[in-house]
Amino acid sequence: MIALNDKIEVLPRLGKTTAKYLQKLGLVTIQDLLFYLPFRYEDFRQKTSIANLILGQEANIQGEVVLIQNRRARNRKLNITEALIADESETIKIVWFNQPFIAKNLKVGDLVSLAGKVSKNQEQLTLVSPQYEKIYNNNLIHTFGLVPIYHITSGITQKQIRFFIKEALKASREIKDWLPKDIRNRLGLLELEVAIKKIHFPDTLENADAARKRLIFADLFFRQLKSQLVKRELSLQSARQIKFKEKETVQFTSSLPFKLTDDQRKSAWEIIKNLENNIPMSRLLEGDVGSGKTVVAALVMLNVALNNYSSILMAPTEILAQQHYGSLTKLFANSGFNIKIALLTGSCKDKIEKDTAIIVGTHALIQKQNNYPEVALTIVDEQHRFGVKQRQKIIDFNRNDKFIPHFLSMTATPIPRSLTLAIYSDLDLSVITQMPANRKKIITKLIETEKRKETYAFIAKEIEKGRQAFVICPLIEESDKLGVKSVKAEYKHLQTEIFPQFRIGLLHGKMKAREKEKIMTEMLDKKIDILVSTSVIEVGVDIQNATVIVIEGADRYGLAQLHQFRGRVGRAQNQSYCFLFPSLENSTQAKTVTRLKALEKYHDGFSLAKIDLKLRGAGDLYGDSQSGFTDLQIISFFSTETIKKSKEEASALILTDPDLKKFPLLKERLGNWEKNIHLE
Ligand code: ADP
Ligand code: MG
Repeated sequence: MIALNDKIEVLPRLGKTTAKYLQKLGLVTIQDLLFYLPFRYEDFRQKTSIANLILGQEANIQGEVVLIQNRRARNRKLNITEALIADESETIKIVWFNQPFIAKNLKVGDLVSLAGKVSKNQEQLTLVSPQYEKIYNNNLIHTFGLVPIYHITSGITQKQIRFFIKEALKASREIKDWLPKDIRNRLGLLELEVAIKKIHFPDTLENADAARKRLIFADLFFRQLKSQLVKRELSLQSARQIKFKEKETVQFTSSLPFKLTDDQRKSAWEIIKNLENNIPMSRLLEGDVGSGKTVVAALVMLNVALNNYSSILMAPTEILAQQHYGSLTKLFANSGFNIKIALLTGSCKDKIEKDTAIIVGTHALIQKQNNYPEVALTIVDEQHRFGVKQRQKIIDFNRNDKFIPHFLSMTATPIPRSLTLAIYSDLDLSVITQMPANRKKIITKLIETEKRKETYAFIAKEIEKGRQAFVICPLIEESDKLGVKSVKAEYKHLQTEIFPQFRIGLLHGKMKAREKEKIMTEMLDKKIDILVSTSVIEVGVDIQNATVIVIEGADRYGLAQLHQFRGRVGRAQNQSYCFLFPSLENSTQAKTVTRLKALEKYHDGFSLAKIDLKLRGAGDLYGDSQSGFTDLQIISFFSTETIKKSKEEASALILTDPDLKKFPLLKERLGNWEKNIHLE
């Protein structure tokens, strides 16, 4: 008997290698598998007689194997498996390519079920490379009924993951429903175990909908409950009161090389007002890439410093931490304030002294706690990029018995304000929607293969004007994957063949932190014209003089991530450009073209996330971890009615039973939310 907490390796046909691939999808336990939801279904509910097949139709047929054999195609390295399948109406020929093992799996006389698209070969109807499975008693999950389709990664097939989930469902009796029964009854929602079974293998589309509805409600309800409890809990705690230093704040803003936007002003004001309170702040500062969140943080940290407390600014990567350190140092130096700043990352460990006002760093800084001055404010940049454990540490860090730090989370999450407000009803939120006035829309173009040369000529002109460029490639090393570029090869190619006259730099995740830092500094100092990089460049890097970003293998990224890349340019007044090159194998695919064209038209992260969700197909993995939300969550954010209901139910519950005495399962699920109070 398998159990929910068992590792997935207990399942049949699941070895170490497969487990590793599944782990990439976040699947470690049986429970993870059960909660890994399909995003659509193939409809093979009708069995079709072979005689009634229609050209072009997606069909299921069931019959007996009359003949099966492998042969080699003439002059080609191609193995062809041919089979004849008969039902009571007719016989049909089936072919598969380069899957010779099928002729071993299926034997003459076997009853088999096949699903695929009906096509034509030499005037005969046929199925080419259909899904297949042998028929036992009622066992069909891949070729008959509503067949679930999951997001997968290379190394895993739909058939495998479906099989594993089917097996994992044997543990479903252990699933305990934590949603209070009377809420479930009142709203007519399915029990959790039933919902999980039905969402994977529904009998009808209505079944699948009911299951989804239940899971969406539960997700929203849980968020509401948590955020309302957090609010309640925070109101019982204390934080340091930070007095607003008006004169100094004015001095600081007037020293800036630009005028703050109204949104920046308003956000800073909201935060400062919040800090004057002795109830700990838990606030989200939301603004698209390039909207100027950092300077708002600087202004707030200045006020904390002038109150003789220190602030922590935590970034998800070393590059970003260094950059924050650099820009804060510059901002304060130019404004005439003597603010002591320290940098703490894996490779740089500044000494922290009692008068250190700002500590900038990665999660490396969470490790050591001694000798710190008192921290009254913690700011986390791009929180969703931290792992769960790291988040926990951030929260626990620098609490003491009397006071906890105020907390500000800065994010470019693609969800618009109205929705964020609805979802996190009790979270305090500041939003920067305005871009600084000097910004121009980044001209984005999907480039056809034959226009590559022209594009290079254009880039050369930009660089001759004194501008800089980024080139993003999906891989570090060359691979046998056809037409997918690696930074190393592309770096060489650009330097020797395309741009011998320019200085080209190379950056990727396997480089030592110090090397990376050196390259970024050279880029900042304009000693590099073109930086060829992997996606390490993605988060928050700020090179104002860069006006061109080329993305190779653009089809391999989610739109939200591409939007993040694009945000590396257009960060000052110069007109900037983003050129998208899809990998060769996909460059003419209609789906690829439609998806990437969306970037030409849309310039906000949220629209792009929505479009991505709609266009994403089976096997496309990109995107989800980027936005920090699962598909189900994104869908749930559009269910305004359900959001409202979940809010009402959560408040009602807290009102009658704030300690959740009658709901032990729910309490258990909330886990140590009391410790988690700052996490939205
Ligand atoms: P993000 O919100 O993505 O973190 P940053 O804080 O890195 O954005 O700001 C992007 C760039 O815009 C920085 O170089 C910053 O100096 C500049 N900037 C910030 N505010 C303004 C403004 N009001 N006007 C002009 N430039 C600004
Ligand atoms: Mg930023």
